[in-house]
Amino acid sequence: MSLDDLPPLRAVIARHDLRARKALGQNFLLDLTLTARIARAAGDLAGSDVLEVGPGPGGLTRGLLEEGARRVLAIEKDPRCLPALAEIAAAAPGRLEVILGDALEIDPLAHLTPPIRVAANLPYNVGTELLVRWLTPPAWPPFWQSLTLMFQKEVAERIVAAPGSKAYGRLALLAQWRCEARIVLTLPPEAFTPPPKVHSAVVHLTALPEPRYPADPEVLERVVAAAFNQRRKMLRAALRGLSPDIEAHLEAAGIPPTERAERVDLERFCALSRSLAEG
Ligand code: SAM
Repeated sequence: MSLDDLPPLRAVIARHDLRARKALGQNFLLDLTLTARIARAAGDLAGSDVLEVGPGPGGLTRGLLEEGARRVLAIEKDPRCLPALAEIAAAAPGRLEVILGDALEIDPLAHLTPPIRVAANLPYNVGTELLVRWLTPPAWPPFWQSLTLMFQKEVAERIVAAPGSKAYGRLALLAQWRCEARIVLTLPPEAFTPPPKVHSAVVHLTALPEPRYPADPEVLERVVAAAFNQRRKMLRAALRGLSPDIEAHLEAAGIPPTERAERVDLERFCALSRSLAEG
């Protein structure tokens, strides 16, 4: 059997009795046209290994393989999905490896060969935690070339937000410092089975070879966390704990000490981090 001959996902779900479990954040995509679109948004997959987290019954997995991924490594927590995924593996010999387990606890790197792209439709809480981990690796560039991830639309908007908007904050700065980030698709609740309460969006992040502006990652993270922890406060107050000379550092970075975090762009947060690191 080839990938084209696999049964429709509704039949797969019925045959393997894959009733969605809320505790696992299961909202499945059953429309293969849609999963193919998401797979295409992941970029040119030919010649890349793809890490897929939370394949479920395998709609996106099928899309990734059909779009020419060299290999897909899929990490799934729910053992009930394994028989459906085994059928896909049999239709794409040698190209799909499935690991049963929690993606937050498994190091996939031993199973992957660069170049590596990541694609996932995950429960939202797991997705945000993994995103932050993938954006803050011990060294840059990271192990992945791109991340193509489904989020609650409101979270997706926080990742791509510009200064001055309500959604702008730690996630935007973390993502945009070393990545190109854009929303490539938005989906209504009805696109999923069962439908979630909110709209969703797919974000595509491409790793830049170098950060946009120099800064020590740990200092930048500390500055941004403190700045947005009290986003309504003036920065000289919100950042007081970082240095007794915070006003001088803010001025050195071209930031008025009375400014609020949500109006400061990435370039100036990086300049502030450099000034603080220099002491
Ligand atoms: N990718 C499939 C799709 O698009 O239809 C399933 C999406 S569903 C929103 C999320 C999937 O992630 C489920 O199959 C769930 O069992 C799995 N999952 C949940 N938590 C996980 C974790 N910590 N590690 C790996 N998989 C997880």
